[in-house]
Amino acid sequence: MIHHHPDNNMMLEYASGSLNWAHSLVVSAHVQLCPKCAAQMKVLNGVGGTLLASSAPAASSEDHQAQAFEQLMRRIDQGVQDETGDSEPPQKVATAASYQKVHKDPIFTAVPPVVQKLLDNNPILRWRRLSRGLKEARLNTSQDRHEVAFHRISPGSKVAEHDHRGTEITMVLYGSFSDADGVYSPGDFLVREPGEVHRPTATQDQECLCLSVVEAPVALTGFWGKVVNPFLSIRPG
Ligand SMILES: [Zn+2]
Repeated sequence: MIHHHPDNNMMLEYASGSLNWAHSLVVSAHVQLCPKCAAQMKVLNGVGGTLLASSAPAASSEDHQAQAFEQLMRRIDQGVQDETGDSEPPQKVATAASYQKVHKDPIFTAVPPVVQKLLDNNPILRWRRLSRGLKEARLNTSQDRHEVAFHRISPGSKVAEHDHRGTEITMVLYGSFSDADGVYSPGDFLVREPGEVHRPTATQDQECLCLSVVEAPVALTGFWGKVVNPFLSIRPG
C-alpha cells in the first residue's frame, strides 16, 4: 500500500508538462504504480482539457502531457545514444552480460515501465559503495541539472546521517526503509528539502532499492559522513 504521494503542486506541474525532466521521471514512475495518483492525473487532465478547450479547441492538457511524456522517453533514449554511440564489439559483449545480470536481479523484477526504460538504456549499472550497506549506481540521462541514481541498501543497514543542500526526491522500488518520520514501501514518494537531516534504515529481512533525483551535492554529517562525503560530489550527465 502506497502512503506517500507527490503533492498537488507537483502533480499539477506534471499534468501541464511544465515540471522539469528529472522530477517528471520520478512522478511518472510513481503514477505508474499508484492507482490514487493515476486517477488524480486523469481528473487533472480532464480539467486542463476543459480549460484549454474554451480558448484553444485544438489542444488539450492530455495531449500536452502525452507530448511531455514522449519527450521524457526520447530524452532517456538520447542519453543512451550519447553513452554507447561508438562502442566497440567487446564493449557490446560486456553490455549484454551486464544487461542479463540486471534483468536476473530480483530487485528489478517489478519496476514501473518508465524505470524499465531507464534500465534498458543504462544496461551497465556501475555500483559503487558509498558506505557500509549502501551502494549507488548513477544513470546516464543527458541532462546535468539533477543527478539520477539507484540506491540499494542491504538488509538492516543504516545509511549515514545526511542532510541536503538541494531537494532530493526518492521513490522506493523494492523492499522498504524507515526513518524518524515513518516506513516507506514500494511506490512511496518522498521529498527532502535542503537542511532536513535523516538517517534511512532498510528493513531487516530484505534489500531496499530506491530511485533518487538530487538537485545539488548531498552533504553527509557525522563520523561516516566525513569518510564518505568526498564520493558524493555531483557528476553531471
Ligand atoms: Zn500516489
